[in-house]
Amino acid sequence: TWGHVRGELLKRLGKNNFVTWIEPLRFAELRDGVARFTVPTNFFGNWVERNFSDQIRQQLISAGASVDRLEFTVEAARPAVQANAAATAPEGQPASAAAAAAETPRAARPAHPAADDSELRSAPLDSRFTFDTFVVGKPNELAHAAARRVAEGGPVSFNPLFLYGGVGLGKTHLMHAIAHELQSRRPELRVLYLSAEQFMYRFIQALREKQIMDFKEMFRSVDVLMVDDVQFIAGKDSTQEEFFHTFNALVDQNKQIVISADRAPGEIKDLEERIKSRLQCGLIVDLHPTDYELRLGILQNKAEFYHNQYKGLTLAPGVLEFLAHRITTNVRVLEGALTRLFAFASLVGREITLDLAQDCLADILRASDRKITIEEIQRKVAEHYNIRLSDMIGPKRARNFARPRQIAMYLAKKLTPRSLPEIGRRFGGRDHTTIMHGVRKIEELMSTDSQLAEDLQLLRRLLEA
Ligand code: ADP
Ligand code: MG
Repeated sequence: TWGHVRGELLKRLGKNNFVTWIEPLRFAELRDGVARFTVPTNFFGNWVERNFSDQIRQQLISAGASVDRLEFTVEAARPAVQANAAATAPEGQPASAAAAAAETPRAARPAHPAADDSELRSAPLDSRFTFDTFVVGKPNELAHAAARRVAEGGPVSFNPLFLYGGVGLGKTHLMHAIAHELQSRRPELRVLYLSAEQFMYRFIQALREKQIMDFKEMFRSVDVLMVDDVQFIAGKDSTQEEFFHTFNALVDQNKQIVISADRAPGEIKDLEERIKSRLQCGLIVDLHPTDYELRLGILQNKAEFYHNQYKGLTLAPGVLEFLAHRITTNVRVLEGALTRLFAFASLVGREITLDLAQDCLADILRASDRKITIEEIQRKVAEHYNIRLSDMIGPKRARNFARPRQIAMYLAKKLTPRSLPEIGRRFGGRDHTTIMHGVRKIEELMSTDSQLAEDLQLLRRLLEA
């Protein structure tokens, strides 16, 4: 009888497996060599079939039943153990440990997966990544404001918060800052921060160790879930699947979710449409490439910190300005440059001067020397707006030429070290006030015209690539 078989299975599979996978099975009937069971969900059935059907069949046979195969069907009326688990196996495809594991590049697997990782632990937070150390400027003020709002831990006002931007622009810093702040303001909240990659590892591990229910339960019990670099799960089907259900379950419970990625949801390739549209439901804010003021602010902040650390070192005027001007893409590189500079100066016991900076940072400066030219900008912008280069530079005043022209002026100002008069010369000998007007116009429009802002970002990315 089934009762007896269950007893045997308990002995053979261990309590954990038994409670998770066997206990919820309902034996329905045995007919024509087919033993039928009802299961709470599709996913569950697939899982049991894959992993335990041999043993179940053997036990049934040793109990005297003649069983050729097992069949698992979802009992519609039966309340699901996990409402979301049912959808985890779409089109009858079980999520399998093997399939998911195939998504993991071998070399990238953790060498020593923690044997007992059943407790839900946040990835370690960098103690330096707080709101205090985050310098706010035009390019990141929206992202910062949104992060602050979430960090207050009040009622959920947008879900998810989706932060995106290029490498080294402060996404991880902001996420850690949210976590720190929440921990001190609302210590009772369960805040979970992890990278999308870690999410995948944990998921695969749970599959391997047959603790998928625990996994689901754990992830559904947090109050704030933060997943960094979500673009990582693009193309990894079972991980995406699981992420989607986790996401939905938390949103349904009105739990705050914060996501980061290196680009907007719609631009992440190989990410399921339904996930994209889910991600687009909340507030999407991007961290723009840094501008000069922000870079200088970050450097000043950092320099102050180093001043305290390396007592007695002096910093010649103009050095920070020089760095802010020359190292333009990545804040991480910018910080690295300053770190190296201070370390080097303290080693040789010299004042930090422009000369020293140029010597000590020659490689970084060379690498970040951007060779973007005004001509290149003009060409790209003309191409983008489908106008001729001659019309872009020429005197025509029609809006469809004038606007792209102003955009090119703006980009020339932002992306090259050229002065306004120099830029004017390259735009058919225009006066520097015309260029300034163009730049201002675009800056003004940028904040209200989202299409323009998007165009600019795209162009910038194309040019800086
Ligand atoms: P991302 O996750 O976007 O790639 P990070 O958050 O890791 O970038 O930031 C890279 C480095 O730059 C970190 O050391 C971070 O502290 C620093 N950083 C980025 N933006 C700022 C900022 N606005 N103020 C202070 N530090 C910043
Ligand atoms: Mg990051």
